[in-house]
Amino acid sequence: MSFEPTPWRATVLTLFPEMFPGPLGVSLAGRALASGLWALEVCDIRDSATDKHRSVDDTPAGGGPGMVLRADVLAAAIDAADAGETRPRLVMSPRGRPLTQAKVAELAAGPGPLIVCGRFEGIDQRVIDARGLEEVSIGDYVLSGGEIAALALLDACVRLLPGVMGKQGSALEESFSDGLLEYPQYTRPQLFEDRPIPEILTSGDHAKVAAWRRAEAEKLTRARRPDLFATRPQPNRQKPPKSTTDG
Ligand code: SAM
Repeated sequence: MSFEPTPWRATVLTLFPEMFPGPLGVSLAGRALASGLWALEVCDIRDSATDKHRSVDDTPAGGGPGMVLRADVLAAAIDAADAGETRPRLVMSPRGRPLTQAKVAELAAGPGPLIVCGRFEGIDQRVIDARGLEEVSIGDYVLSGGEIAALALLDACVRLLPGVMGKQGSALEESFSDGLLEYPQYTRPQLFEDRPIPEILTSGDHAKVAAWRRAEAEKLTRARRPDLFATRPQPNRQKPPKSTTDG
C-alpha cells in the first residue's frame, strides 16, 4: 500500500479570509497550490466569537486608543484549527523577531506553520503566552493588519518547497543564501542606452564570472548592509597551519 506524503500545509487565522490566497494564487505559488505541492487552510477568527454580534475585540485594559483582539475568541480559533498538532505557531507582529531567509528556510523544511494575523491595536498578551505564539515581524514599519505580512512570509517559504521553483539552483545563489546580497544581473540586449553588459559576463570563462559575481556581491553588501557583511560566513576559509609551539 502506498501513501501520498502530506504536503506542506499553512493554516492562517484572520478576520479577512477573503485576502487569501490573494497573490499566492498566481504564478509559482499559485501553480504549486493548484498542483498540491502545498496546502492553504484559511480560518475566520470571527467564527469563534460566541455573542450574537460575533464580536472579536474589546477596549484595551488600562485605557488608550483602539481595540484589542480578545484572548478567549482567538484561543478558541487556534484550538479549533490546530488541535494537538506539533507545528510552528506564529503571530505576525511589528514587535516580533525580524524575519530572515534562515527562518524562512527553517519553516519551509518543517510541516508548515499556523499563522495568526493581528488587527486593531494588537492581541491580548495572554493568548500569545498561553498558546506559545512566536512573534514575527517583516520589518520596522506598521501595517494595518497581519495578512500582508503572512502573505510575504508564505511566499518566501513556498518558493523553497521541493518542486516549486523550476531550477532549484537559483535558490542557492540568490540574496542571503550565502550571507551576501546578490550580484547585479544582466540579459540581452548586449547594449542598452550606451550601457554594455560587463565584458566578463560574456567571456565564457566560468571561473572568472564566478569571481566577478562574488566580488560584486561583497561590494554591494559592504555598501548597503554593513551589518550583513560583518557577519557573513567565509567561503572555504583555510585553517591556519597548527603551530608546532602550540600547547
Ligand atoms: N499597536 C501595534 C504596535 O504598535 O506594535 C500595531 C498593531 S498593527 C496596526 C495591527 C496588526 O498588523 C498587528 O497586530 C500585526 O499582526 C500586523 N502588523 C503590523 N505591522 C507588522 C509588521 N511590521 N510585521 C508583521 N506584522 C505586522
